[in-house]
Amino acid sequence: MTRLSEYKTATQALHAGRDPDANHGVVNPPVYHCSTVIFKTVDELLDTRKDRASGAFVGFTYGREGTVTTRAFEDAVTLLEGGYRAVTTSCGLGAICASLTAFLSAGDHLLIVDSLYGPARDFCETFLRRFGVEITYYTPDIGAGIEALFQPNTKVVYLESPGSLTFEITDVPAITRLCRARGITTIMDNTWASPVCFKPLSHGVDVSINAATKYISGHSDLMLGIAVCTEDAFIPVKKTASASGYCAGPDDVYMALLGLRTLPLRMKQHQESALKVATWLQGRPEVARVMYPALPGDPSHALWTRDFTGASGLFGVVFNACTDTQFAAMLDHMELFRLGYSWGGYESLCVPTYPATLRSAKAWEAPGPSLRLHVGLEDTDDLIADLEKGFARLRAAA
Ligand SMILES: *Cc1c(COP(=O)(O)O)cnc(C)c1O
Repeated sequence: MTRLSEYKTATQALHAGRDPDANHGVVNPPVYHCSTVIFKTVDELLDTRKDRASGAFVGFTYGREGTVTTRAFEDAVTLLEGGYRAVTTSCGLGAICASLTAFLSAGDHLLIVDSLYGPARDFCETFLRRFGVEITYYTPDIGAGIEALFQPNTKVVYLESPGSLTFEITDVPAITRLCRARGITTIMDNTWASPVCFKPLSHGVDVSINAATKYISGHSDLMLGIAVCTEDAFIPVKKTASASGYCAGPDDVYMALLGLRTLPLRMKQHQESALKVATWLQGRPEVARVMYPALPGDPSHALWTRDFTGASGLFGVVFNACTDTQFAAMLDHMELFRLGYSWGGYESLCVPTYPATLRSAKAWEAPGPSLRLHVGLEDTDDLIADLEKGFARLRAAA
């Protein structure tokens, strides 16, 4: 019988984390609503606790530690990313916070990419610093140059590639090679690529985080996070997530599993449509540049081609100089690209971004305002027409 690990990603996404033969022939795994788990004897109860203490987590002990449903989701994403085991959290930010706090103590040094997700930067600045963690930001294009920033107390290097809002690809293998040699743990936010387009662990990363809120669930209706770990990283992350209470609800986990089945198919279409829309935007006089590594000519295109197997539908646009009134005239009346946070659902979205306020390693320079677009699964002719009408409003407001 062919093992799941031997199949291609699209096949894995359909068959991982479910076992109809163990479940009355039912196609999808059951949803377990659970706090209490009953044990037959004191021996059995204490036995399970011993497993928890050693970090083996063999059996199910209590709802907070996860259920059959959680394990199904974890097994599926772990298979797709080629990890040892995974930890499910109540949201993507929870997976980031649990992973960072799993490896950092007072007096340790943390290196973070300057283009990381804003709320993750906020956690580092407002909490980790307060607990005595030293932090240095590095530029996303640093590559092997990161070695110059290593200190004797450097414990963790945090990566996100491409960066939030500005979409620079980082040379992940160049960084993880140096970290492995020094015993520095690497944690990477893989949300943009999803497990379909990039496999962080196969590029030397120890913990790969996905905000399953985004592409994995894919329908803009739930919050969920997952951290896929190597064997060495799993116990610290699992223990920290448990100790911090970052557990997820079973219905959300079940819905994310449904989303996962169509993830490879959706990613293909997101990429195809985003490339069309991004290429069209490049030809617009109102646009200074489009930040999308899948575009030939993007400064990150070569690295993206080398390491990624695809792109998602999320990218940035830098406008030429225009007034706030002009920018708002465009965004206030979009019909398909509705204004809102988050992305990764089936529908298109846009949001104004302010990268300059989130940079400390190197100042952000742009001639005008910036916009982040999520290209959904609508027909691209309709999406382009929506943007074209938006540009007309922008010009009319001058
Ligand atoms: C949204 C997002 C997160 C956080 O996920 P939540 O589920 O919203 O907490 C983390 N990283 C990136 C890159 C994101 O876009």
